[in-house]
Amino acid sequence: MTAKLIDGKAAALALRQRVASEVARFREATGRAPGLAVVLVGEHPPSAAYVRSKVKATLEAGMESFEHRLPASVSQDELVALVDQLNQDPAVDGILVQMPLPPQVDERVIITSISPDKDVDGFHPVNAGRLSIGLPGFVPCTPLGCLMLLQQELGDLSGLNAIVVGRSNIVGKPMALLLLQANCTVTVAHSRTRDLADAVRRADIVVAAVGRPELIRGEWLKPGSAVIDVGQERVEQPDGSRKLLGDVAFDEAIEVAGAITPVPGGVGPMTIACLIRNTFVSAARREGFAHEGSL
Ligand code: NAP
Repeated sequence: MTAKLIDGKAAALALRQRVASEVARFREATGRAPGLAVVLVGEHPPSAAYVRSKVKATLEAGMESFEHRLPASVSQDELVALVDQLNQDPAVDGILVQMPLPPQVDERVIITSISPDKDVDGFHPVNAGRLSIGLPGFVPCTPLGCLMLLQQELGDLSGLNAIVVGRSNIVGKPMALLLLQANCTVTVAHSRTRDLADAVRRADIVVAAVGRPELIRGEWLKPGSAVIDVGQERVEQPDGSRKLLGDVAFDEAIEVAGAITPVPGGVGPMTIACLIRNTFVSAARREGFAHEGSL
C-alpha cells in the first residue's frame, strides 16, 4: 500500500486564491484593503526569511503590508509602544510580531500587549481561552492549516481516534482542541508519554509536532491512517548538505498510512495561507463585512 500525498502547496494556493477574491470584494465594499503589520526584531536570518514570505503572500492577496524592522537592541518598552500604536491604527487589521525575540524582551509581555482582536497569530491568552471554550476568535495558523488539510482529505472527522504528538502552545495544544471540537477522540502525547508507539498505533489521525526528525516510525502507524507532519528540522546529511526532515520517517510511513503530508510541501505552505486568511477575517469582522463561509 502506498499512501496518498496530501498536497499542502495546492491546498494553500487554493485558500490564498479564495481569500484574494474575497479581499477584492472587501475593497470594493469598504474602499480600503485589509492590512497586516509585521514586526521583525534583529537580523535572525530564518525570521527574516519568514517575514519576507509573509509580506509577499499579503501583497499577493491584495492586502496592505506594514513592515516594521527594529534593531536587536530594542527595549521591551519600545516594542510595547510600537504594538500599542498598531493596536490603535485603523488601517491595521492584524499584528504579527515575529518570534523569537532578543533576551531582554519577554515574549509573553509582547504577546499579551497585542489587541486580541488583531492577534492573527492566535497566541494571546484571550484567543487561547476562546478556543478552549469554543468561542469565535483567532486560531494559531499552523494547527488551523492542519485541520483544513484533514477535513479536505477525510471530510467529517467525528468519532475518529486522533493523536497529537507535542503539546506546545502554538501547535500541539490548539491542534488537540481543534480536533476535539471536530468530535475526534483525542490523545495528546509528549516527552513523558509511556509507549508512544502503542498510542500512535491506535490512531486514525496522527499529527506530529515534535521537532525530532523521523521520531515516528512507519511500523508504529495504524494501516490507512492520515498523517500530518508538522516537524521541519534541517539535518546535516553524510555528504555535508542539509535536508529538511519531518517528525515522521516518511519513506516507511508512506508504505503504511492512507494519506500523508510531505516535508516540505505539506503543512508549511498552509501556515502562511492561514495567516492571510486570519488577517482577512479580522478585517471583515472589524468592518462587519459578510464573507464566504468556506474561509
Ligand atoms: P516545541 O515547542 O519544542 O514542542 C515540542 C513538543 O514535542 C513538546 O511538547 C515536547 O514534549 C514534545 N516532545 C519532545 N520530544 C518528544 C518525544 N521524544 N516524544 C514525544 N514528544 C516529544 O515545538 P513546536 O514549536 O510545537 O514545533 C514542533 C515542530 O514543528 C518543530 O519541528 C517546528 O519547526 C515545527 N513547526 C512547523 C511549523 C510549520 O509551519 N510547518 C510551524 C510551527 C512549528 P514536552 O512538552 O514534554 O517537552
